[in-house]
Amino acid sequence: MSGEPQADCLFCRIVAGEIPATVVRESETTLAFRDINPQAPTHVLVVPKVHYPDAAALAGAEPALAGALLAEAGRVAEDEKVAESAGGAGYRLIFNTGAGAGQTVFHAHVHVLGGGDGLREKLV
Ligand code: 5GP
Ligand code: ZN
Repeated sequence: MSGEPQADCLFCRIVAGEIPATVVRESETTLAFRDINPQAPTHVLVVPKVHYPDAAALAGAEPALAGALLAEAGRVAEDEKVAESAGGAGYRLIFNTGAGAGQTVFHAHVHVLGGGDGLREKLV
């Protein structure tokens, strides 16, 4: 909970370089890498380098870092050309929070999804 690395956390291990990932962006405080099981042509995960179990815990403890995560997600969307400002059709940011909502890795992360036609269906 405290931001300390967790030995049994997949994304802490990716941040530490112990498990390989296809990194697309890195900042001092965040890492962005491709999802291993992409659900759209662009599917990138953006994580804080420090450990919090979900986005709300991150925002509660370190709101500036939560803001940096969102800003970095926007930069990924620009880089991947899915943002409208980069000529794309737009993108979706998803924070699954809690197992019942589909969260499987309990290290805060935002999914950046874009490209293809699948996102035309509105979820909410
Ligand atoms: P969640 O389901 O917790 O919102 O998202 C976790 C995501 O992590 C899933 O979309 C899953 O495909 C992805 N994932 C699981 N294991 C790995 C891995 O070893 N490497 C990468 N790059 N992504 C992973
Ligand atoms: Zn972690």
